[in-house]
Amino acid sequence: MRWTPQRRLILDVIEATDGHVTGAELVDRCRAQDPETTPSTVYRTLRVLEELGVVQHAHGADGREEFHIRPAEAHGHLHCSSCGESWEISPADAAATVREFRDRLGFEIDLSHLSVGGRCARCRAVAGA
Ligand SMILES: [Zn+2]
Ligand SMILES: [Zn+2]
Ligand SMILES: [Zn+2]
Repeated sequence: MRWTPQRRLILDVIEATDGHVTGAELVDRCRAQDPETTPSTVYRTLRVLEELGVVQHAHGADGREEFHIRPAEAHGHLHCSSCGESWEISPADAAATVREFRDRLGFEIDLSHLSVGGRCARCRAVAGA
């Protein structure tokens, strides 16, 4: 693939990002630097970068795609429905569940697509539950 200035800009924006970012946020950040950027260019470039292993997508609580920059390892996500925060589920956290599903159902869980909704410790404490 040829690195056109547009794609170069998208890569720069991604490199400057920490952790998770939605496609829409990336479009906004690219547009702040180059108003000509179209969402389709951003999403096309994200697909290519995912094939190259530079980014990996997961899904937020609402199913919307979130992108990770160079994920160190596959991980899942916990989403709190009260405060909207999210946390990572490490392979170690999920090991027992992954093993259980594989042994009992023959189902291999893709950790990068494990998103669990619920309530976090802080919100549960506030609610007194
Ligand atoms: Zn997906
Ligand atoms: Zn919470
Ligand atoms: Zn994550």
